[in-house]
Amino acid sequence: MILMKDIIKEGNPILKQKSIDVELPISTEDAETLNSMIEYIFNSIDPEVSEKYGLRPAVGIAAPQIGILKKMIVVNAFDEGGNEQFYAIVNPKLMSYSDELTYLQGGEGCLSVEREAPGLIHRHKRITVKGHFLEHGKLVEKTIKLKGYLAIVFQHEYDHLFGTLFVDRINPVTPFDVPKNSTPVVFKEFDEEE
Ligand code: ZN
Repeated sequence: MILMKDIIKEGNPILKQKSIDVELPISTEDAETLNSMIEYIFNSIDPEVSEKYGLRPAVGIAAPQIGILKKMIVVNAFDEGGNEQFYAIVNPKLMSYSDELTYLQGGEGCLSVEREAPGLIHRHKRITVKGHFLEHGKLVEKTIKLKGYLAIVFQHEYDHLFGTLFVDRINPVTPFDVPKNSTPVVFKEFDEEE
């Protein structure tokens, strides 16, 4: 299983490199990598497991973060209706995006960045993504639309495949400026299930 010591941290040149396409059909080795990334995400949000192993909770992870420069990402985050959405994507491709931007008021975080990095990152509010999605143990080619928080998380992970960290996207001069076409993500309050 992936532990915090296995996560490549800021400063390591691997995080600046570009990832290559995963050859399909997926090899056993690449499938194991993807599965370990998925396992990390769910371990990290399991209170007992994350405490036992000291895992930082994450809504996403990209293969370069465990030292593998191949196009694989996992996203597990809430949509605007408060429903958790899970995507494990091989060879994701950003097909189109809105001019309208969105951002997280508290800024972004990353398993690979352990320092405070104050500032806002404005990302496309709506995106269309093509790729091979893991569904019931199989990779299925499809195109999906994401918006708001899910779109932000996807773009953050997608950036990792091109050697970009969120800290690289914070404007060093005006880190808290909000462009006219950018609005914050609003988290709808939803009742917690008993
Ligand atoms: Zn990250």
